Amino acid sequence: MHEKHSYNLCPVCGYDCKVSSNYMHWGWPDTTIFDGLLIITCDDCGFSFLENEISYSQLNEFYEREYRKVGSPFYWDYGSTFEIPRSLPTRSTAQIYLATIFTEFLPGDIFLDIGPGPGDSLFSAGHLLNKPKLIAIEPNQDSASYYDRNFGAKSIASLSDMSASGFKAKIILLSHSLEHFRHSDLTILFKSINEVLDVRGVLVIEVPNVDFRVHKHLRFPDTPHTIFFSKDSICRLLIKSGYDIKHIQVLGNSYPYSHLPFVLNSPTVEIKNNISYRYALKKLFTKLHMLNYFLALRKFFKSMKYTRQGRIKMDLALFNDFINDSNFDTIRVAVTLRSDRVI
Ligand SMILES: [Zn+2]
Repeated sequence: MHEKHSYNLCPVCGYDCKVSSNYMHWGWPDTTIFDGLLIITCDDCGFSFLENEISYSQLNEFYEREYRKVGSPFYWDYGSTFEIPRSLPTRSTAQIYLATIFTEFLPGDIFLDIGPGPGDSLFSAGHLLNKPKLIAIEPNQDSASYYDRNFGAKSIASLSDMSASGFKAKIILLSHSLEHFRHSDLTILFKSINEVLDVRGVLVIEVPNVDFRVHKHLRFPDTPHTIFFSKDSICRLLIKSGYDIKHIQVLGNSYPYSHLPFVLNSPTVEIKNNISYRYALKKLFTKLHMLNYFLALRKFFKSMKYTRQGRIKMDLALFNDFINDSNFDTIRVAVTLRSDRVI
């Protein structure tokens, strides 16, 4: 059963929202909980959420049993042994480097990953940080022994269990996890994160940049995401939740400039430029459905360029130019507890 809300106020900024798009389900043909969903978009901050939420128990069961099962697009065998890569995984390396700019990670400090999946971040943290204590929170039933066996990481069932244990994490990572939570769970989620984040700690979050004010022109499947972020909406959510934003960036450039809502097209010179042959050409491209072909071609040539260059250079500047996905841009943000929240 989906849980119907009688209001469509934006959970992030309170703006009155309207239905933006039908949910595009893919990847798990036997799963019905994503059928018939409607996506509501806030025109003010760009946050999107489901009109009728999937029930907590159904969603939990999906992640425990379906998300990583054989045949799933994100299949992972938690009975397997982690294959040691020739170089550190780039995404998690960039995320950990970013965190260490804003905190001093001492031996024995805790690195907590909420939703580590195959465990790249645990592997990277084990190599980059000084004698870290690695902790994972992951709903899949078989993941705990996998993390212990491969990374020496301890698994904890939930943030409230971690809070009860008195542990505080110096770095907390939510890499492509937040968009899997329900919007009605956000308040309690960030309250719980606040409880387990060390006062000198850093929270690093990565989410796909899916701003439906733009994204309805560049439609990709949604499953299993239940909330969708613009840069503005994640900023507002984090500030509202008691954080100082230390760093935010959008990785990638999938959104053509003229598709951005007017308010985001802030440089007036650029807007004037759009009312020109470039604008007309873009309209023609859109009409002929050529835009996606153009973007795919551009990405293909970019990937060729990376191949020619060989391995990506690993240094502290990495977090500034790292692009991670072929379809979506990514928002990466690092925050610390706001000073008035630090006791
Ligand atoms: Zn909003």
